[in-house]
Amino acid sequence: MVKCNVCQLSIENPLYVSENNLSITSLCEIYPQETEVFFCHHCGHLQTTEINNIAEYYDQTYKILIDTEEEDQLYKVIESKKIFRIDHQVQVLLEKLTLPENSLMLDYGCAKSATLKKLVQNRPDITPHLFDVSEMYIPFWETFAKPENWSTYFLKPEWHEYFDLVTSFFSLEHVVDPRAMLCKIQELLKPGSFFYCIVPNIYTNTADFVVLDHVNHFSETSLQFLLEDIGFQSITIDADAHYGSFVIVAQKPHLPVKTSSPLVVKQNVEAIYTKAMEMANYWEVISNKVTEFEEKHKNAKQSAIYGSGFYGTFIATCLKDLDRVKYFIDQNPYRQGKSLFGKPIIAPSELSDEIQVIYVGLNPQTASSSIESIDCWKGRNHLYFNL
Ligand SMILES: [Zn+2]
Repeated sequence: MVKCNVCQLSIENPLYVSENNLSITSLCEIYPQETEVFFCHHCGHLQTTEINNIAEYYDQTYKILIDTEEEDQLYKVIESKKIFRIDHQVQVLLEKLTLPENSLMLDYGCAKSATLKKLVQNRPDITPHLFDVSEMYIPFWETFAKPENWSTYFLKPEWHEYFDLVTSFFSLEHVVDPRAMLCKIQELLKPGSFFYCIVPNIYTNTADFVVLDHVNHFSETSLQFLLEDIGFQSITIDADAHYGSFVIVAQKPHLPVKTSSPLVVKQNVEAIYTKAMEMANYWEVISNKVTEFEEKHKNAKQSAIYGSGFYGTFIATCLKDLDRVKYFIDQNPYRQGKSLFGKPIIAPSELSDEIQVIYVGLNPQTASSSIESIDCWKGRNHLYFNL
């Protein structure tokens, strides 16, 4: 039995437990622990049992995109124009908020804080502040913020009701106690100012279900419950502005308001539960699907995995004979030239003719359009495995 991270009521049994003791983290690394996912029938929240030694994991191990200053994740490709995630995040933030001149901003749980860095390039009047539970990002912070404006491990007492905006980009899903984090953020905000947050939307990005270090898989219902219960108002949750994510804006009231426990619509929770069960079932059968395809095409020449991110890694862990995979293929130039499981990551144009079988390791909702965007593969007799 566990306690819901959002409404704090008890949850009896897990909805999903992984087949083996190997799980995948959000950085596409293998972690020796099973994945257990629980559903809360009161507030519609899904949550995963946290990583053992979670504090040490974020302090020492978790290194998101730390290889180079410029490295970024590909957000989408429109007519062969590549749009990167950070640029998109800055654009959406500026569309959603009117930031006053000379705003004081804090990026909470910020890692490199590439979004804030890019934002202050557009808006040099904004003073950036940074907070994380690791010191490994300080070399990045030094490139755009002053040392007195960042803090590691502990929040500065002078930051009480200090900020015009607190942001959190893909952080709340990692936190075992999101209520405590939001309470702290409320204390940091000036009355009437805003909290801006992006978290994954598991209901449009199914992979999130089996990401071990995503402790929280929010639904719109559980996010609304959490923010209301902490005392935020004017809450908007946008499921369309950033693919596979919820973009949240919430205001700290000008005066503290005493709230009763938020109301939850029972039918909404049951509809979420149906989707959650479908996802649990999907991940239970998918590894069998990979190995069945592998067995059926075992006489084919060498194969490749298209996509070196989460889905590609997941397929690699399912295959019985990874030696027959020659490459990973990725459209992201920051991934090309690297390796995964000892296999080179190449551009689509570098794929040799001997490869017949391609395992498509992409989000199923975008996979076919991604394949169609590769002109040099047109007319080739590839045999695709689709998730
Ligand atoms: Zn709950």
